[in-house]
Amino acid sequence: MQFVQFVRDAFALLFPELCAGCNQALVHQEKRLCTHCIYNLPITHFHLDKDNLAARQLMGHAAIEEVDAFLHFSSGSIVQRIIHQIKYKNGFATAELLGELYGQQLKEASAFESCDLIIPVPLHKKRLRSRGYNQSDYFAKGLSNALNIPTDCKNLIRVAHNESQTSRSRPERFENVKGIFQLNHPESLTDKHILLVDDVLTTGATLEACSTILLKNPGVKVSIATLAFTK
Ligand SMILES: [Zn+2]
Repeated sequence: MQFVQFVRDAFALLFPELCAGCNQALVHQEKRLCTHCIYNLPITHFHLDKDNLAARQLMGHAAIEEVDAFLHFSSGSIVQRIIHQIKYKNGFATAELLGELYGQQLKEASAFESCDLIIPVPLHKKRLRSRGYNQSDYFAKGLSNALNIPTDCKNLIRVAHNESQTSRSRPERFENVKGIFQLNHPESLTDKHILLVDDVLTTGATLEACSTILLKNPGVKVSIATLAFTK
């Protein structure tokens, strides 16, 4: 066993795992993010205020119970680097870790207590194939571990592969995602309060399109929680 530990330490010394936030080598007990970056995460604390900025972003669209986001996203920030790593650099374990950190905060505040099921916003199968994973599935998994609420990553699917939304205006974004989601087993959602989760809340167009299809089922309520929020 000592030899195994020696090889592991030698490997870690040669190829240290780097922090997803600051790119510094992680030390022994650290995983994915260094202590400094975790301590300095720009936490929104939106869960303490139902009328928060994220909730206002979705106001006037689908009838959502509560909206929350864990971190403030701004250009050039540590959160932008983390999201990039999560989406494009195999950072699925970072997404899960942040889901757990967020979930612990929510649990302490008894937020989303009445939710029965966590559903992540799906990727189109083409995108899933090229990326190899859906970062929101892992974020959902971390939340599920902390909140003890099951996830369902198979029911809600994206049937159209839409281009990036970044160059579109706000109304165009809402138009562009209409009808691109479907449910495999809508009947299994009857009377459930669903926590819909995604990586970044921007205009809320994608989350609104998902919520609309979920809310078509009898007795369904939807709340939203995202890893980051940007205006
Ligand atoms: Zn760091």
